[in-house]
Amino acid sequence: MANSILIFGAHPDDCEFTAAGTAALWAARGDRVCFVSVTNGDAGHEMGGGRLAQRRYAEALAAGAVIGIEYIIMDNHDGELLPTLAVRHQIIDLIRTFKPDLILSPRPNDYHPDHRYTAQVIQDAAYMVTVPNVRAGVENLMYNPIIAYVSDTFMKPYPFSPSVVVDIDSTVEHKVDMLDRHVSQVYEWLPWNGGYLHEVPATPRERRTWLRARLDYRLRRDADRYRNLLIAHYGNERGQKVTYAEAFEGCEYGAPLDAAAIQRFFKF
Ligand SMILES: [Zn+2]
Repeated sequence: MANSILIFGAHPDDCEFTAAGTAALWAARGDRVCFVSVTNGDAGHEMGGGRLAQRRYAEALAAGAVIGIEYIIMDNHDGELLPTLAVRHQIIDLIRTFKPDLILSPRPNDYHPDHRYTAQVIQDAAYMVTVPNVRAGVENLMYNPIIAYVSDTFMKPYPFSPSVVVDIDSTVEHKVDMLDRHVSQVYEWLPWNGGYLHEVPATPRERRTWLRARLDYRLRRDADRYRNLLIAHYGNERGQKVTYAEAFEGCEYGAPLDAAAIQRFFKF
């Protein structure tokens, strides 16, 4: 039976950075996968507003098309997200409509307030999706979906502690291709904000090569830092050989990410 997997980020491109390699594995085996950006991305550029939101919507759809997944952009302003009851209701309605078996979420400790509050509203929606008298107009779920956090490097109040690490060597180029579609971000906004815009090559082919090299360390990070978990999951021979990985940690507010769930969702 195909699984249904809903992957949340605060911005168009967040899910690509954290989970695109695993999403490509799910999509290839026939699972239903949808990326959700809780904001419309209308602040992520030195030029902002509605035109930017429209541009990023098109970029997100192009990224989703690389691996044939759905993509939802929620029309909340970028840089202004708050964990209000109204946003919680948006998330409850979306989860109830999509009926995911598994939800991926950022953790609530992060440098960006939109990332923090995305995590917060997902936690606030967990369990409540099963309560019929909350948002009674959208039928409640009869189960609480599994929720897992995507990987980060923040240490306080506690570091990311993965339950499972996934080998994405076979899909890493799809992940880079998806990020390559977010032209306004990976070739314009992030280089401008980071002070390295002068390094970005002019042609699409050259800049994709540049992006691939620039991302390499980040793409390898979780394979290197969680090598023991890769060996536990895949055995010594394959576990030692994995170059690129994505890691996930069970969230206590969803259904548990136990051994059976890891087998079901993360064994490729
Ligand atoms: Zn973001």
